[in-house]
Formats: sequence, structure tokens, C-alpha cells
Amino acid sequence: MKIVVASGNKAKLREIAEIFKGYAIVSMQQAGFSSEIEETGATFEENAIIKARAVCDALGIPALADDSGLCVEYLGGAPGVYSARFCGRHGDDAANNALLLQKLQGIETAKRGAYFESCVALCFPDGDTITASGRTYGRILEREDGEGGFGYDPLFFSDELQKSFGAASAEEKNAVSHRGKALNALSEKLRKAKAEGKL
Ligand code: IMP
Repeated sequence: MKIVVASGNKAKLREIAEIFKGYAIVSMQQAGFSSEIEETGATFEENAIIKARAVCDALGIPALADDSGLCVEYLGGAPGVYSARFCGRHGDDAANNALLLQKLQGIETAKRGAYFESCVALCFPDGDTITASGRTYGRILEREDGEGGFGYDPLFFSDELQKSFGAASAEEKNAVSHRGKALNALSEKLRKAKAEGKL
């Protein structure tokens, strides 16, 4: 089955293609979709569906989108759905990380708990939609560690890996990440729907 990934983020596309190995994954650019999609949802799930549905309806092929972000306990769950534009500009990872460090300056380790959440949506041309979500827990470091991954990865110390996502290999991160968990759950739902003849 051919699936177009409704995201312009190359790092996300790579992670999705690695986990969804049995499918022909194509980017929006390869599929010829270049319009901006406004993320107007209040939750990760709403935004994932908005993105996947827009691309699916425009191209007429199944589209998969992830909406994800970092939720920090001390900040009441922020930046949450605003993770990509925490600093006020979209996708400025360095400025987002600097602002996060500033907001947590002087805060003790025990209060730096955080989790990443991902919601993935797969929309089909006939109107069907399958969603799944995943979380991964950890805490925010006092300085960046490692150069791998993207976004907040160098500041996120993973409970499961006992190292930062920035210092982890792609395989290590995918095995425990929010997106890895959401995509594996989605892949299982897709398998079941196919076996039951629903797709
Ligand atoms: P989205 O593209 O609207 O879903 O925004 C996701 C934003 O959340 C990214 O720009 C990052 O700032 C952050 N984010 C989501 N997943 C990850 C991850 O796996 N590592 C680091 N940052 C992430």
C-alpha cells in the first residue's frame, strides 16, 4: 500500500519510514502536495487528523500524519501542541531549546519531569480514519547532551534509555519513542482492520 506522509519535517519522515517498513512511504513533495496546512486543533489528535485528511483529500491516496510535542510538568504541560513554535517562530529548534532552558533555570531535577506525546492519523480516500497515540517519559536536562535526533532531543533524558535522545542512535530512540509507540500501535490497528476485511 502506498502512503503519503503529511509532514514537511525530514527527520519525522525518516523515523516514520523506518518504522513503517512494509509500506511504500512517499513524502508530500514526492506526491506533489505543497500547500500549507494550518494546525488549528487544540489536541495532538485533532491536528494529526487535520493534516492527514487535507493531504488525503487533495491527492486521493492514504495519508499519514503525526502531531507531536513535548509536555513539561513544571510548565503545566507546555509547550504541548505549541512545541514547534514555542519561541514564537515555527521550527526554530535552537531558540525553542534556549527558551525551555530559560524557563526551567534553577528548577531542581525532581521537578523537571516531562513526556513526549505523538498522535498519528491515517486517513483513507473513502473517509475512514485510524488513529493511535504514544508517550515516552523522562526529564529535561540542564544543558544539551548529544547531537542526534531533532527538536528537543538533546534536552530530553529518557527514563527508558537512561540517556538523552540526542545521545541515542536512531534505532534506540525509535524503540522507545512516542512516535515509535504510536506508529507501532497504528500498524497493529491497520493489520487488524485489513484482516477483518474493513479496508
Ligand atoms: P509538529 O510538527 O506540529 O507535530 O511539531 C512537533 C514539534 O514537537 C517539533 O517541532 C519538535 O519541536 C517537538 N517534537 C516532536 N517530536 C519530537 C521528537 O521526537 N524529538 C524532539 N522534538 C520533538
